[in-house]
Amino acid sequence: MVNDLAVYAAHADNSKGRVYLDDEAVYRSQYQRDRDRIIHSSAFRRLEYKTQVFLNHEGDMFRTRLTHSIEVAQIGRTIARAMNVNEDLTEAICLAHDLGHTPFGHAGQDALNICMREYGGFEHNLQSIRIVDKLEARYASFPGLNLTFETREGILKHCSRSNAATLGELGKRFINNDKPGIEAQIANIADEIAYNNHDIDDGLRAGLLDSEALRDCELFDVHYKIVRDKWPNLVADQLRHEIIRRMINNVVDDLIQTSAEMINSVKPDAIDAVRTCGQSLIKMSQPIETMHQALKKYLRLNLYQHERVKTTADRAKEIISYLFQAYMKNPGLLTNKLQSAMDNNIDLKDETAKARMIADYIAGMTDRFAFTEIERITGKSQEKYFKGSIENRLK
Ligand code: MG
Repeated sequence: MVNDLAVYAAHADNSKGRVYLDDEAVYRSQYQRDRDRIIHSSAFRRLEYKTQVFLNHEGDMFRTRLTHSIEVAQIGRTIARAMNVNEDLTEAICLAHDLGHTPFGHAGQDALNICMREYGGFEHNLQSIRIVDKLEARYASFPGLNLTFETREGILKHCSRSNAATLGELGKRFINNDKPGIEAQIANIADEIAYNNHDIDDGLRAGLLDSEALRDCELFDVHYKIVRDKWPNLVADQLRHEIIRRMINNVVDDLIQTSAEMINSVKPDAIDAVRTCGQSLIKMSQPIETMHQALKKYLRLNLYQHERVKTTADRAKEIISYLFQAYMKNPGLLTNKLQSAMDNNIDLKDETAKARMIADYIAGMTDRFAFTEIERITGKSQEKYFKGSIENRLK
C-alpha cells in the first residue's frame, strides 16, 4: 500500500522521525500510530465539550470541536486517498488540528491571548503543539505523544517568526517561507471546507441564517436551484442537507482536480520538493475559490458577528479573564496536582512561568468545566454571576 503512494507523498518509512527514540509497532505505520495516540489523548476527548461556534450547552445538535475534527478528517481522507498521498498522516493531522483550542471557541482564545499579553501571548495553533509535545503526560519514556515530524509539521499551521525561532527544525519553514507537505496542505483546506459548510448547517438550524438570504452566495444558490428543481417540496432539514452535501462535493472534486493539475505542472519528486517549491500545491480553481471565499465572508458578517453569537462570546471572554486573574492572584484555587507541579517546577516569583501554567490549565478546560470553576470560585451560580443566564440574554 505504502509503495503505491505518489513520490511526493509522505512515506512513513522515510519520516523525519520522532524527538524521542521509540519502538516500532508491528502492524501499524508511523502515521497510523500518530493518529491512534491522538485519539487516545485526553485533549482529544475534551474536544467533545468545547465550543465550535455555539456554546456547547446550547443544544446537542450543534457541532463541537470533536465533531468538527471528525468532519475535517472525513474530507481530508477523501482528498488524500483520491490524490494518492498518505491518508493516515492526513487523518492524524486533521484529528489533532484543534487540540489547542480553549473553551468557548475563538472568543476564549482571544481573551486568553489578552490575559497572556505580557507573558508571551496565547495562540491555539502553538498550543496544539505544546499539547502533543509536552502537556499530554501519559507515556513512561517521553513527555507528550512523541509524534512524527510530519504530523507536528501539519499541526503547526501558522507561527510567528519569533515563536518559530524557538521551535528548531519544526519552526524552520516559517523562517524560510517554505510550505508543509501535501498532507498538511490538505488538512488545512479540509478544515476550511468543513467549517464553511457545517457552520451554514448549524446557523440555519439555529435560525441565525436564512436559506433565502444565503442565496446571495453563488455557491449556495447554484446548489439550492439544483435541489429545488429536483424536489420542489422538500422540508427545511432535507433541503439544507441536500444543498450542503452538494457544496462539499463540488468544492472537494474541484480541489482534487485543480491540485492534480498543479502537481502535474510542478512535478515535485519528493516531499522536500513540495516543501520548497514556493507555492501551495493544494488549491481550488479560481471560480470555486472565489465562491468559497464569498461564503466565508458571508458567514463572518452574518453568523460569527451575529448579535446572539457575539453576546455569548462576550460572556465567554469574561469567564476566561476572570479565571485567569483569579488563579494568578491566588494559585491556591488551582488543583492540588497543579499547585504541587508549580511548587516543584517553577519559582513562584517567575510570573511568566506561572502565567503559562495557568494558561495551559485554562486552555485545557471544557466549556462546562469553566462554568463550574466560576461557580466554585465566586460561590455564585452562573446565573447570578452574569445577573441572568446566558440563555435569558439570548432571548
Ligand atoms: Mg478547525
